[in-house]
Amino acid sequence: MALVTESAAVSHVGRVRSNNQDSGYAGQSLFAVADGMGGHAGGDVASALALNKLLEIDGEYSSAVDAEFALQEAIVSANAILAEAVYEHPELTGMGTTLSALVRVGHSVALAHIGDSRIYRFRDGKLTQITTDHTFVQRLVDNGRITAEEAKVHPRRSVLMRVLGDVDSTPDVDLQVMDTRPGDRWLLCSDGLTGVVENDDIAKTLAEHPAPQEVADLLVKESLDHGAPDNVTVVVVDISESFTGSTYIAQTVGAASRPVAYGGAQGKKATRMPGLRLHPRGPGSAEPSHFEAQGDDYLDELIDEDRRRSRKRKLTWLIGGVVVVVAIAAALLLGYQWTQTRYFVGQTNGHVAIYQGIQQTIGPISLSHVYEDTGISIDQLPAYMQTQVESTISADTIDAARATVQSISDTVPRG
Ligand code: CA
Repeated sequence: MALVTESAAVSHVGRVRSNNQDSGYAGQSLFAVADGMGGHAGGDVASALALNKLLEIDGEYSSAVDAEFALQEAIVSANAILAEAVYEHPELTGMGTTLSALVRVGHSVALAHIGDSRIYRFRDGKLTQITTDHTFVQRLVDNGRITAEEAKVHPRRSVLMRVLGDVDSTPDVDLQVMDTRPGDRWLLCSDGLTGVVENDDIAKTLAEHPAPQEVADLLVKESLDHGAPDNVTVVVVDISESFTGSTYIAQTVGAASRPVAYGGAQGKKATRMPGLRLHPRGPGSAEPSHFEAQGDDYLDELIDEDRRRSRKRKLTWLIGGVVVVVAIAAALLLGYQWTQTRYFVGQTNGHVAIYQGIQQTIGPISLSHVYEDTGISIDQLPAYMQTQVESTISADTIDAARATVQSISDTVPRG
């Protein structure tokens, strides 16, 4: 039985940025997301040029390996187109784009990936990230330097190690072929989604809503509900069985849905998201969504910076620890000093004695000591007074303690 796909693509500028540098595509067999970078002008050009080149290979393939090869060729061509555009428009220097693409062929999918957009497979209620981010922080995670949780909030989380652009003429693209089956739901998205919406929440939305268009709209809405600091693009692809040939309408969204304007002027236009138009946008921001790690010097600099941050963190903990220890010691000292302003009358070696301190002990440490042995023998005292002295009589001051000793001595029978 032939497998068919049902899909949807949605892209939104988000609540903070002034233009959408993401592009998305859902077609016959090809599905893709590209996230451009390069300041106010360039990012949208890069993602649009790359995606427009890629979608030329949408169509039927006799094998997934053929599709994988077509993906590879198209991506190398897209990379060359970006380099050419920068050559013709030097003001675009430094522009680049991520690209994550999927081509379905029968019961297989061919995947191509570069950058930090992601491809997930949702199967039997379980969401699995298939691609690995080509980011600086992912490298730190892989090397065990930071945890995945730390990576999410790392100040350098946007730094990409690999990207399509004008830097490298032979981009290092991850390629793979995997199986797919009815019921599989594939999700391609830019980091505008995964940067703010937790995987568990993404999985919940994928599980609860059957229509790809509804799911894609809801995921974008979730990103907006979380403040959408970045452009967000979502492509959802459902694999199902059908007797009839599938019909599809190719959807191109984001920067690639508009004519490429090298001046970056199209960034001022509103994005086409009728369903989500009511969400107000935040103030514009020209801050680039990514910047690419260029050259080993730069990478070394970043690693040094990370080491410095790690050392600073350790130092902060050390200073914090010392402060806590000093505070505890000071509290203990003050407490001890207070105990030494107290006195009580008790007995030592058969004599009545004045003690300084209080009767409590902390473990092996006694908080009192004999201050004065009065020389008055306990045996001389009447029985009731012996009992009182043995159970101790407290006194606020040394004078009060001496007065107590005087009254004890007065009970000694004469003769
Ligand atoms: Ca982004």
